[in-house]
Amino acid sequence: MEAVRDDPVIQTTQTGSHGRYVLDIDDIITFPDIGHIPVFPPKPGESWYILTEIVADISLGRPVFRVEDKLEGNYWVVAFYTDNDVEDARDCVPGSLLCIKNGRPKQFLDGRYGFRIDDPSTVLVLPCTMAKLREINNSLRERSDAGLLLTCVACNTPVKQGCVRCKTRYCSQACQKRDWPNHKPVCKVLKKLHEWNRTDWG
Ligand SMILES: [Zn+2]
Ligand SMILES: [Zn+2]
Repeated sequence: MEAVRDDPVIQTTQTGSHGRYVLDIDDIITFPDIGHIPVFPPKPGESWYILTEIVADISLGRPVFRVEDKLEGNYWVVAFYTDNDVEDARDCVPGSLLCIKNGRPKQFLDGRYGFRIDDPSTVLVLPCTMAKLREINNSLRERSDAGLLLTCVACNTPVKQGCVRCKTRYCSQACQKRDWPNHKPVCKVLKKLHEWNRTDWG
């Protein structure tokens, strides 16, 4: 029996499994761009993520950010209207990704177009750019395609257990230490990609 996760975003569209990484950032159903946001609300157990990159902090009183859509050259505004807006937006710095679960754009009173965040649980900030996310995603897919997902990321020795947090595998402390400078900045991003991919399912 598979455990039911609280965030089965990939359930209907992709089939990541133990040892396989198939996540496609360009899948327009799971990660819609400006032109492909679903018309209907998500069904129970389904969700989508709007991936945007923060290009500027334009806060005026409350936290407001100018973001670039996954489709380059298209810009939105994201405004926080949560109870603890400043705290909820603390990780929102230019060059990071602001991912909005089941986001649906609206027009603000001043005519700008974008997303109003009322529930902090619908936003996720990843400390990397869109280009970096694609790079990490591609490299996980390449390792998976080459049958190396279950091996030490530093030397490709098969390893039974991955890190519980981000699934990365190391055969020894020496390899882990050697890879730490590469790994440290992307650990949180890896963790989220594996959750989206459901790599440990069945
Ligand atoms: Zn190793
Ligand atoms: Zn890690």
